[in-house]
This record gives sequence, structure tokens and C-alpha cells, in this order.
Amino acid sequence: MVPMIPKQATGVESLVVSEIFGPTFQGEGVSTGRHASFVRLGGCDLHCSWCDSPYTWDSSRFDLRAELARRPVADILQDVDERGAALTVLTGGEPLLHQRQRGWGTLLRGLTTRGRELEIETNGTKAPDPETVENTHRFTVSPKLAHSGDPQEMRVRPNALKAFVDSGKASFKFVVASVHDLPEVDLLVTTVGIPPERVWIMPEGTGSDVILARSQELADSILQRGYNFSSRLHVLLWADERKR
Ligand code: SF4
Repeated sequence: MVPMIPKQATGVESLVVSEIFGPTFQGEGVSTGRHASFVRLGGCDLHCSWCDSPYTWDSSRFDLRAELARRPVADILQDVDERGAALTVLTGGEPLLHQRQRGWGTLLRGLTTRGRELEIETNGTKAPDPETVENTHRFTVSPKLAHSGDPQEMRVRPNALKAFVDSGKASFKFVVASVHDLPEVDLLVTTVGIPPERVWIMPEGTGSDVILARSQELADSILQRGYNFSSRLHVLLWADERKR
């Protein structure tokens, strides 16, 4: 959930932020390789065993009072503005935990001014509100599989996933450790009604050797299914360095 961080003074729209960084390349999914800035919000409703951003939610391993800060939306927008990228990726943690917070709509509208594009990365457990759909150019929805260690009833919310399909703005990115995970993807794709051409399969891993080996293992099986492939460009370039 959204961690308990002290509120700003009354009247100031603010959100709990982990980090803002860029410009860098979007490393995953539909927009791989694009020049982008990232806004990473705090908190998550899942606890994936291989999470690459546990510092947004895991208070057993990180001091969240040091990792997270409530920042005025105006400051977030100015920070993004100064980075000068045409694409902003709003990520987490789970950013849609914030969509009922005051300041969310202001943030989305601000991130789409002056021709900028907004992409939201989400785990797909929360359906997007109409305001979120209206102000977002695309969603990268990443439902978690059994190997994440999260209970199925928490990680797979069919109605929320269908809402993303119905938005017409979503691609679905599955983090896969081996070919043995692909039947689970197939079942979810069929059950929810996700068009195969909107599916991206991405190897799990935080080192270039693992990413390359798993990519080679997965490639033919992905092609046979009519799915797309996503690498992890930032891992190939910079391993698991933060703010990349
Ligand atoms: S949903 Fe994403 S941010 Fe949340 S625990 Fe899983 S990998 Fe980490």
C-alpha cells in the first residue's frame, strides 16, 4: 500500500515519490529505446520475490522514511520538465495506488502538456479510473505469474485486467523466468481476452548474462505463440544500477 509519509501543509497537492530520474532509455516493453524520464512513486500492493524496486515498499529491508518523500506535484512537474524528455514513464511500486489521491489528476495533466507523452507501468491489480485513462497515452500492464511468490488472488484481478483491455491503450508485459512459465501466460491471455499482438514476454533477471541466456531460451516459443519480445535494455547497459 501507499506508505505512511507525513502530509504536506493543507492545500498543497502532493504525492509520495521514491525517485525521479532521466533522461535515460525506456528499457522495457513497447517503448524500449525511447528517450524518457521516470517518476517512481512509493508503495506497492504486491511483494514479488524478484522485485527490482523493493526500496519503494519493503520496510523490512529499507528505511522507507529515507527512501520516500511526499513532494508537491508542482515540484514533480518542474523536475520532469527540466529533464527535457518527450516521454515520461510513471512507475513504482504500483502507481495506480495513488490515483484517488489529491494531486493525481494534476500530475497526469501536467505530464501531458507541451506534446509530452505519458506511459504508466502498472501491475494490473487496480482498474484505471476514467480520468487516468483519459490522460494517459499508454499503459504497460505487467500481471505477475506464480513465480513472483504473490498469492494468486492478489496478483490476478481479471476485472481490472479487462478494464485495461477495454481502454484500448494497454500492452501486457509478462516477466518470465523460463519456457515453463509460458502456459500460465497463455491461460491468462485466453481467460482475460488479451489480443496476442498486445502481449510482450520479458526475461526476468538483473544481470546481462542471465537476460541473454533466458532471451535465447524463450525466443522461439514466443514467436510460435504470436507474442512480442521485450529485452531489458537498461540491465544490458547498466546492470541493476539505480536511476537507470
Ligand atoms: S508489482 Fe512491481 S513493484 Fe510491486 S513488488 Fe512486484 S515487481 Fe515490485
